Amino acid sequence: MSIKENLENIKKELPKDVTLVAVSKTKPNEDILEAYDAGQRVFGENKVQEMTQKWEALPKDIEWHMIGHVQRNKVKYMAPFVRLIHGVDTLKLLKEIEKQAKKNNRVINCLLQIHIAKEETKFGMDKEEVHELLASESFKEMKHVKIVGLMGMATFTDNEERVKSEFEYLKQLFDTTKNEFPTSQKLDFTILSMGMSGDYKIAIECGSNMVRIGSSIFGARN
Ligand SMILES: *Cc1c(COP(=O)(O)O)cnc(C)c1O
Repeated sequence: MSIKENLENIKKELPKDVTLVAVSKTKPNEDILEAYDAGQRVFGENKVQEMTQKWEALPKDIEWHMIGHVQRNKVKYMAPFVRLIHGVDTLKLLKEIEKQAKKNNRVINCLLQIHIAKEETKFGMDKEEVHELLASESFKEMKHVKIVGLMGMATFTDNEERVKSEFEYLKQLFDTTKNEFPTSQKLDFTILSMGMSGDYKIAIECGSNMVRIGSSIFGARN
């Protein structure tokens, strides 16, 4: 099936309030343009350099989301254009985003990445770290970042019960954090980014309103 058909089939299944991030990492510009011509405007990449090259080459009304782990020394390259950074997992990284956003005279939207999977290798914060960051003096002083929600990746497994319980945990943390920290100019919990090709249906059942789907749209990656 074509990229266009894949996109249409997925979009048919998504509730209206769920945003689809088309994950185009490793895929060439012509694949992205095929999705663009089918109406898709939100794309996700996991490497800053690759995303920056694609931003330069492709239509400027594309919304670029950084979904991967971010090294601090790379933030400056995407600061002029990135629309949402999903993988913020330390205060140090947030400070760098604040600094680069300020230089560009922008406010950059960010999600805090939460470690919900069993695998050691997946990045992310725990509940206490989220609390610490949001309550910190450094965060209170920031004016060029906005935390708009949470992101997480479930364990890569066929065990649906396990995936479900990880997503439920993240949804619960989203709700309690939203209640605990009042909405302000730099904090507005509206986005819960969870679900990929293999588990987005479960994620939506558990309350996700942003799914990041790559291989089901563009085909397998090498
Ligand atoms: C690659 C990636 C995805 C998309 O994965 P698929 O299984 O191809 O849908 C989603 N989220 C993150 C963080 C990724 O790195």
